[in-house]
Amino acid sequence: MKISKTALTKNNNPIILLETENKNFKKTILFIGVFHGDEPQGEALIKRFIKNLDETKLVNKLLFIPCLNPDGKDLNTRQNANRVDLNRNFPTQNWEVVQNPDYFGGDRPESEAETRFMAEIIEEYKPSFILSFHAPFEIVNFDGPAHIEAEKIAELCGYPSQGDIGYSTPGSFGTYAGVERNIPIITLELSETESIDDLWKRTEKVFEYCAQF
Ligand SMILES: [Zn+2]
Repeated sequence: MKISKTALTKNNNPIILLETENKNFKKTILFIGVFHGDEPQGEALIKRFIKNLDETKLVNKLLFIPCLNPDGKDLNTRQNANRVDLNRNFPTQNWEVVQNPDYFGGDRPESEAETRFMAEIIEEYKPSFILSFHAPFEIVNFDGPAHIEAEKIAELCGYPSQGDIGYSTPGSFGTYAGVERNIPIITLELSETESIDDLWKRTEKVFEYCAQF
């Protein structure tokens, strides 16, 4: 495992992309934690998966961003330090200025370092499959051609699969990567009350499934 890309946030926290070092691989799979700063579960789960990972047995290259929003994590806010919801800041066709401060997507698309970091990774690595961790809805949401994979992951983790989250998400990462770039992307909405040990029991098989996508 190596650090293959970094960026700095407004508050000078590093955002880190980790990459497995296997030379032979079929596909590239991306795992993302802490898109929203007050949803820290994904980072703990990614770190636990990495700790137990045997790189010699991998069929795919794996990429990990354990924490996309370290400023928000420090501040315990959904948004980053500029009060921007990163999951509304992507340059999608449906991007618009959102007045609700809870979902403020910035003054313009890709105004935020975290969003640009993410978009660069999509362009450079062209992942075949993406798993992004959120909370607290306890559903397997998907964008792009990921219907069958969402059903499988739902079966593995015990949360229902749901294609439409029920409200519009202009400038979301799911729209950017899934809808507009046709990359299958799963947004796994975890419980915020379950312990990390219990969440790990739910998601260990999900990691293994995605790693072998
Ligand atoms: Zn979220």
